[in-house]
Amino acid sequence: MPELTQTFVIVGASLAGAKAAETLRAEGFDGRVVLVGDERRRPYERPPLSKEYLRAEKDFDAAAVHPAGFYDEHDIELHTSTVVSAIDPRDRSVTLSSGERVAYDRLLLATGAAPRRLSVEGGDLEGVHYLRGVEDADALRRSLIPSAQVVVIGAGWIGAEVAASARQLGASVSMVELATVPLERVLGPEVGAVYRDLHASHGVDLHFGVGVEAIIGSKTAEAVRLSDGTVLPAAVVVIGIGVVPRAELAEAAGLAVDNGVVVDEHLATNAPGVFAAGDVANAFHPRYGCRIRLEHWSAALNQGPVAARSMLGHDVVYDRIPYFFSDQYDLGMEYRGWAPNFDQVVLRGNPADGAFLSFWLRHGRVAAAMNANVWDTGDAIEALLRVDRPIDTALLADPEVDLARLTDPLAG
Ligand code: FAD
Ligand code: NAP
Repeated sequence: MPELTQTFVIVGASLAGAKAAETLRAEGFDGRVVLVGDERRRPYERPPLSKEYLRAEKDFDAAAVHPAGFYDEHDIELHTSTVVSAIDPRDRSVTLSSGERVAYDRLLLATGAAPRRLSVEGGDLEGVHYLRGVEDADALRRSLIPSAQVVVIGAGWIGAEVAASARQLGASVSMVELATVPLERVLGPEVGAVYRDLHASHGVDLHFGVGVEAIIGSKTAEAVRLSDGTVLPAAVVVIGIGVVPRAELAEAAGLAVDNGVVVDEHLATNAPGVFAAGDVANAFHPRYGCRIRLEHWSAALNQGPVAARSMLGHDVVYDRIPYFFSDQYDLGMEYRGWAPNFDQVVLRGNPADGAFLSFWLRHGRVAAAMNANVWDTGDAIEALLRVDRPIDTALLADPEVDLARLTDPLAG
């Protein structure tokens, strides 16, 4: 007798996985939903871990994706503290580290990403932190006492947000980065300089254009030695030098892997019945005509549901314009779009006033935009990003001109 109840297995119980499970039930799937994750806690969102949670302003429940009873109520079999050690797309099964085998009809890989390790002398001393999970945040939070001397290595999103939170908690903070400004790869030198000045104005000791030679200490970290010879005292060292997608299960199973698990616009891998979403997925994006691996909250939030619908056989495509947000001190921002090769930056408003918009253009077209302490501009910015023609940059820069006017073909 063939098995009548279908089983959909989701590997990775975080934002993408939990939203996929929720969507399967919301779409009326009445088979088994098995959600497996190697973390101890139920699924939670990571953005608070460098912000409100790190500063002890929010507790775990505020960061959780769903209330505690949600998974039982929706008959979702949530297995926490459980590692999936192998997947077998031919046999259509996954193997748990206990040796138990779970057969699936559809499989979603939502295994996310892990921090890239800094290979440097002293890198494994006590007091050296990476920040990915809630336990990392708990450990860091215990160290961020007002007298702490903190060195943040890498001025990407983790470095910038942790530096801000640590200063808000009263710690002394130094920031070390090879590039010339924070967040340079995404924001470029002009807007990155706004963040450099923001951190400087909050008393962060900045070291740009310099690498790290060693972390010094016998058992615990005591200082960081830079490549220019500078020695920065540090009992707390936070390393944020990017992430690597957790694609090892897919790779071992022979799936296409290239900077993450390769998926099409439906989030389907090259193995029948296997899908991927979130940080681990390098997904073909129809708007840009290439694959993009997004490492942000909104991609996990929205790809999880699209993957779930694809698993159910719906004809859905993930084509959202990329979006992320960041909060540092009193500067909140939202960034929309994708601009790896911009050739022009246009500012609207003066960053020194604490509220502004910036636009990244390529060949005169707006490729990405950021609103910093300016709200309610999301729809107008989305429209600008979708309009496929050059935009008048003088009008774009003029705060007196309604943004919506720039995309209205009837406007004079
Ligand atoms: P993940 O959240 O990485 O989850 C994957 C899960 O799978 C993990 O629980 C992992 O342990 C588990 N797993 C992996 N392999 C296995 C296995 N073999 N067996 C079982 N389980 C496995 N983005 C923003 O847009 N804005 C922000 O402000 C922001 N702040 C952030 C702050 C921090 C501190 C961090 C770390 C990230 C932040 N991000 C932010 C990024 C955002 O959190 C990620 O893009 C998002 O978490 C990706 O979700 P995911 O579900 O794809 O993967
Ligand atoms: P990130 O934003 O990718 O930044 C990493 C930084 O480290 C970059 O400045 C990078 O420079 C630098 N770097 C890379 N390799 C290095 C090396 N060997 N030595 C020194 N510096 C090096 O990554 P992250 O800050 O570690 O954040 C981790 C993940 O969390 C990312 O996926 C990020 O998107 C996510 N996150 C997002 C937010 C948000 O969206 N608000 C907040 C927190 C975390 P190059 O760019 O020149 O390589």
